[in-house]
Amino acid sequence: MNIIFLGAPGAGKGTQAACVSERLGIPTISTGAIIREAIRSGTRMGEEARKYTEQGALVPDDVVIGIIRERLAEPDCRGGFILDGFPRTVPQAEALDAMGIALDAVLSLEVSDEAIVERMSGRRVCDACGASYHVKYLPSRDGVTCDKCGAALTTRRDDAPEVVQSRLRVYHETTEPLKNYYEQKGILRCVEGQEKVEDTTALTLSALGVKA
Ligand code: AMP
Repeated sequence: MNIIFLGAPGAGKGTQAACVSERLGIPTISTGAIIREAIRSGTRMGEEARKYTEQGALVPDDVVIGIIRERLAEPDCRGGFILDGFPRTVPQAEALDAMGIALDAVLSLEVSDEAIVERMSGRRVCDACGASYHVKYLPSRDGVTCDKCGAALTTRRDDAPEVVQSRLRVYHETTEPLKNYYEQKGILRCVEGQEKVEDTTALTLSALGVKA
């Protein structure tokens, strides 16, 4: 299956994508994770992207479209994939269509702005393996290191409150119109994302027609 997760930053796309990835045995491709890795490694693309991510702005379309084009050409994507955080603009969605990618479902995780702000202030991430936790809703076993690889957990710089506000603004203005784009194609499924992680996973799998 070729699946897209849409939703505001902090709506739980990464967490749900990880569950569905494991259940269906297909990779998750997160443009945000690829960009963060490029920033960490100090590549030219990373240096360019940092200017945008630190302000909560979107990285230019041509950069992320290039990232996705290369990644989808990898052999592990042949049996299906999940896109987490791409597309985020109508031109990105059009570029995906132009690549001849047939999509099975676009899942929009619905979470209020209020809940997003609370979630992002408590989000902790593992820089080593990319796992994501929340101090209240999904704590790691000891609260400070990653359950999966033992590395120290950190707070993403773009989860700072003022950056979260601008990311939410960008989401509503630029990314939310994609719901309409995919609704018109008949593949949009809205999933309530405000409840517990496992409840949202059950709703997500059912929206995909997969047994939980
Ligand atoms: P995320 O981890 O998905 O929240 O992405 C973190 C940051 O990476 C975003 O705030 C953007 O600056 C950038 N980014 C990730 N995906 C995209 C995309 N599809 N288009 C533009 N910028 C992106």
